[in-house]
Amino acid sequence: MKKVKGVSHIHSTYSYDGRLTLRELKKFFLKRGFQFLLLTEHIEKLDRKKIDSLIKECTNLSDENFVFVPGIEIDKYKLIILGIRKAIEFRSPEEFIEKIIKQRPLFVLAHPILIKKEIPEKYSNLVEGCEIWNLKYDSPIIPRTSSLNLIKKLNMTKKVFGILGLDFHEREDFHDASINMAIKNFTAKEIVKKIKAGKFMLKKKNLPVEIRTDFKFLKTSDLFRSTILSLIFDVSFKIHEILHKDNIPVPENIKLKLKGLIYGK
Ligand SMILES: [Zn+2]
Repeated sequence: MKKVKGVSHIHSTYSYDGRLTLRELKKFFLKRGFQFLLLTEHIEKLDRKKIDSLIKECTNLSDENFVFVPGIEIDKYKLIILGIRKAIEFRSPEEFIEKIIKQRPLFVLAHPILIKKEIPEKYSNLVEGCEIWNLKYDSPIIPRTSSLNLIKKLNMTKKVFGILGLDFHEREDFHDASINMAIKNFTAKEIVKKIKAGKFMLKKKNLPVEIRTDFKFLKTSDLFRSTILSLIFDVSFKIHEILHKDNIPVPENIKLKLKGLIYGK
């Protein structure tokens, strides 16, 4: 068994808004002690040829030290689909999902805070995992209480694991947050299998608490902290959005104070 560390929700230049090529991603993450990446390329602007070259490049760049798991993200349903093996032409989210099911990939609900409308049951039924912590949309200190409640709710009807995602588009999006597992055959297929079986641990550097995929560990004081931090995070995010839209500059010291609160610096 080999102990490996990786992370999910990564965009490369295959996504219209990703900044790093697969080669650059590999170098960047290897340097920081990671051995695998679960890619989530925006599917909406990819044609079959591009998806095909994504899968091939993932295979070519994977070796005994580093593995890429090809995957995509469907914005309409806030779904990430990990471990795709054959390219399919994207005509509509519905048709794509219908066809990709046959490859038995892993369906994960991404950044639940962005889910405005209820996901249709036929898609939520496919979901085996839920991003209970998205490091871009949630506070980087602690998971969001609403996401923790969602995973509890999902688990009332079926087993759904919690996972964390970086939502990485550029170097600045990096956090030392990871998915850890022990694995015999270090391949994309095996990584997906391990995750489906819930055989992994989530870790976040400097996190005051240990993370289990069911998140049952959280004490009332942690939950309280999570609620408060999420609130500060959301309010600052909103204010920033409004001020930015109207081109109103925010004083540097206020920015720093808020960042300190949100990022615990
Ligand atoms: Zn994304």
